[in-house]
Order: sequence, then structure tokens, then C-alpha cells
Amino acid sequence: MSTVLVTGGAGFIGSHMVDALLARGDTVFVIDDASTGSRTNLAHHMGHRRLHLDVAPVQSSTRLRAWSEAADAIIHLAAAVGVRRVMEGHIQAIQTNLHTTEAVLEAAAPRRTPVFVASSSEVYGAADTVPFREEQALQVGSPTVGRWSYACSKALCEFLAQAYALERGVPVVIGRLFNTTGPRQTGAYGMVLPTFVAQALRGDPITVYGDGQQTRCFADVRQVVDAVLQLMASPDAQGEIFNIGSHVEITIQGLAERIRALTQSTSPLVQVPYEVAYRPGFEDMRRRVPDLAKLCRTIAYNPQHDLDAIIQAVINDQRHPARGPVT
Ligand code: UDP
Repeated sequence: MSTVLVTGGAGFIGSHMVDALLARGDTVFVIDDASTGSRTNLAHHMGHRRLHLDVAPVQSSTRLRAWSEAADAIIHLAAAVGVRRVMEGHIQAIQTNLHTTEAVLEAAAPRRTPVFVASSSEVYGAADTVPFREEQALQVGSPTVGRWSYACSKALCEFLAQAYALERGVPVVIGRLFNTTGPRQTGAYGMVLPTFVAQALRGDPITVYGDGQQTRCFADVRQVVDAVLQLMASPDAQGEIFNIGSHVEITIQGLAERIRALTQSTSPLVQVPYEVAYRPGFEDMRRRVPDLAKLCRTIAYNPQHDLDAIIQAVINDQRHPARGPVT
């Protein structure tokens, strides 16, 4: 049993992390500004004697220092989420990513509290050769394309974490999270899978951006959470960067068709040009596939994720939003 601080613990991934930590008997501190997360995600734990919540931005939380020093580990998930939200406010996205990470690492330094830093597959930017490996040179896209500012901010967070490890002795593990999905994820910030499920359930057109031939690999949030916890328990993971996700690739058109079939929806699939969906000059990643060899060498991890089961869980959640731990 230990004590863990989760930043962003009221968010989609964070709330599943809190489920897992409370279930294994830990005491959990959560700092979350409720910007994209929500108390609703933790409603089933409210009043739990081992859960302590501070609703505040991480960098201005009055609890950050004390909780970081009391914790055996920090899982830093607080970040700007969703391509749509990032496209709507670059300053906010860049500042959120940098300021929260800096504050967490600074708070971890006095007692050298181990930190998991959530990075993103976005750091691979415009790279076009899959699968992406952790050691490869990063080639974020053109500096004139706003989307890539998110990649740069996340890459800088990685460098900052490694610098704190080297210069201040903070044990860090960096995880590049690929498309992660499951119950409680909302389409409000642009995430494709809950968006398509909601459209299909309403009978609205399913909005496939571009030609729909871009690919992604979708991972079950509960497997991702388990991987993070295993990494934090593994001495071999310290100071390292890991891809975390699924390597089962599907086109976005294929995803739309699968969701329409599983919901038995009659929604039409419509193609929406990127410049209409986002803004002129928007650049997407054509393919995004992680190399998971390093992760599988380090922890017990099954890189196969059952996409139909994940979609079904999201359908069930949207039909009957049960906020409790999802079994
Ligand atoms: N997408 C789509 N329709 C939507 C939302 C997203 O076709 O309503 C596409 C998006 O352009 C991208 C993919 O789905 O190619 C995944 O988008 P998401 O924002 O979920 O994650 P990303 O992988 O881009 O970070």
C-alpha cells in the first residue's frame, strides 16, 4: 500500500488511474483544475476515506508541495487534451503542458519522489515511417503549422523530466501515450472514437475527416493504466521513455464502419475536409503506430487490444453512463 499523487486525476485517464489505485488499497491525492476533467468522473469515489481532492491548477495548488513530499510516487497526467481544444487555444495548451510539468518536477525534487510523466505520440509529429520507436529522431512538422506546437511542448516536457533526473536526481519514467480510449472519454475535445459512437447512437452523420484513410491504433484505457503502474514498479523503467498503446492499426473510415455496425446505426458516413473540420493548413498524421517492443521487454504487457470490446464499452457507457469502476 502506498500513497500516490495523481495530477489530472479527474480526467478520463486520470479517473481510471484513481480507480486502479484505490482498488489496490492506496491513498490517493488528486489535483485537477476540472477544465477538461470533471468531478463526475470521480463521483463514485466521493467521500472515500483514502481519496483527497484539490480542485485547482497544478501549478497554483497549495497542496502540491506537501502532497508531493508525502507521496511515494506522482503520476502526472494533467495536460491540455484533444486536438480540437489545442487548435482552439495554442497559448493555453502550451502553457498548461509546460507549467504543470515544471511545477510537478520542482515539487518532486526535494524528496526525489518518483514521477511518471505522460507524454504523447504527438511528439513523433510528421514522421511517416511506422512503427515509431522511442529512440528515433523527432521530426515535428513545420513551425508555421499550429498543431505541432503541442508536439513541441510535450517534447520539451520530456527533456525537462530527463534534466530533473540528471541534475536533481528525480526518478522519472516517461510514457508516450498513443490513442487511448474507453468509458468516460468524451468527444467534446475532438476525440474520434467517442465522437463517432455519439453520432451513431443519435443517428447523425458520422464525420470522417479527410479521406478517412489515415490510421490510428486504439488502446483500452485500463490496459494503459496498468502499464503505467507496472512501469512505476519496475527498476528497469527508471529514466526511460516508453511508447504505450496498441499496435492494432485501423483506418478512420474502417473505425466509422465498425462503430456503425456495432451500434446497428443507420447514420451515413460523411467526409469532411480537414480545413472545414479544423482550419486551413491543418496537417494530420497519416499513420500512427507504436513500436511496443521496449514496453513488452520491460513489463508484462499484451499489445493486442480488442477494438470491438473497447467500442462496445464506450457504447454501453454512452447508453447508460455508469460512472463507477468499469468491469
Ligand atoms: N477524426 C475524424 N472525425 C472526428 C474526429 C476526428 O475523422 O469527428 C479523425 C482525426 O482527423 C484523426 C483521427 O480521427 O485523423 C484521430 O483523431 P483524434 O482527435 O481522436 O486523435 P489524434 O490521433 O488526431 O490525436
